[in-house]
Amino acid sequence: MSQVQFVELSLAGTRREIGRAHGAAVADYLRAEVEGAAIARGSDPPLEDAWALLTRRFPGLADELVGLSEGAGLDLWQVVRYNGLCPGGGCTNVLVPGGPDGPLLAMNKDVAPQNRLFTIELRRPQGEPAAVRYGHAGRLFGYGLNERGLCVAGTAADASPELMRAAGPGLRLGLLGPIILCECATVSEALRLIEAFPVRAESGNISLLDAAGGAAVVEAAPAALQVRLPDCDRRPMCAVNLFSSGRMPTCSEAAYIANSERRLETFREAFGEGGPGLRDVMAFMRSHCQQGSICRHMDGTQQERYHQTVMSLICAPAFGALFLSQGPPCRAPYRRYGF
Ligand SMILES: [Zn+2]
Repeated sequence: MSQVQFVELSLAGTRREIGRAHGAAVADYLRAEVEGAAIARGSDPPLEDAWALLTRRFPGLADELVGLSEGAGLDLWQVVRYNGLCPGGGCTNVLVPGGPDGPLLAMNKDVAPQNRLFTIELRRPQGEPAAVRYGHAGRLFGYGLNERGLCVAGTAADASPELMRAAGPGLRLGLLGPIILCECATVSEALRLIEAFPVRAESGNISLLDAAGGAAVVEAAPAALQVRLPDCDRRPMCAVNLFSSGRMPTCSEAAYIANSERRLETFREAFGEGGPGLRDVMAFMRSHCQQGSICRHMDGTQQERYHQTVMSLICAPAFGALFLSQGPPCRAPYRRYGF
C-alpha cells in the first residue's frame, strides 16, 4: 500500500459490535501489523494488570477490543498488545477558547509516514454519546469530538527520566481519548477523570476543549500531572512536543525540543492576541515557514522516518463537526464530518 491511507467507518451498536465492524474493515492491515511487530499470543503479566483496570472500570473498551479481535480474526492478546504499543508521533495542537466560530481545537498529526492506515470514524455506541474522530486502524486510540461538544487531542512529549522511572502497568495515554469521549461532556469532567485514573505507562500532552469555551492542556507523566489553563484574556493555547508549564521536567536530550520551541514561536507570532476563526486556524495549520513550520512534511529527498504532517483535524463544537484533511493540510482540503 502507499504510505498513508484513510478509511471512513460508520460504526454503531454495542461496543463489541463496533469493535467487530472496525476489525473486519481493517483485518488485512491489522494482521500484517501484528505479524510485522511479531506480537505473540499468550499472556503477559503487566498487560494483564492494565487489562484488569479496563475490564473493571472501562468495560466498554474491553468489549471493543474483544470485538476487534473477533472482526480481524486475531487472538485477543495480540490485539491488546498491539493497542499497548505506542504509535509514536509528534503533532501540534492549537486550542482556541473563543472567537467568531466558537471554540476550536486543531491538531496536525505528525508521524513517520510509512505504512499507516488511519480511520475517520462516525461512532454511535449504544447508550453513549456519538463521536466523530480520527483513529489508528486496529486501535482504540483516536481523537475528535463527541456530540456533547467535548473535544480531545494530544501530542507526544517525553518527560524527564526521573519522572519516567515510576512507569508501570496502567492506563495508557492512547486510551484516554476514547474514554473521555464516551464519559465526559466538559473540560472539568475530563480533568476529574484524568486525576482519578492517571496515566501510568507513558508521557504526553492531552488537549481538552468544550462547547462553553473551557480549555486545558494536561501534561501527563507516570509520576506527575500538570494542568495548563488559558490566561485571563482567554488567548489561544498551543501544545507541541514538550511540556510548557515550566513545572514538569521535560526530557532535555530529545532532538525535537528545538523544533518544538520554534513551532511555539511561530504560534506566538500568529496568535499573539484575539480570537481566531475557523479559516484563520486552517490557514495556520497549513502554514509553512523556514523555521518552526506548522505543516511539517518535506518534499523530494525527505527521510522516511522523519515525523511529517500526514493529516490535520479541527474539532468545531459550534458546527457540530470535525474538519479533517486526508493528507498534509497545505495540499488536501479540509472536509467536514458531522454527526
Ligand atoms: Zn504542508
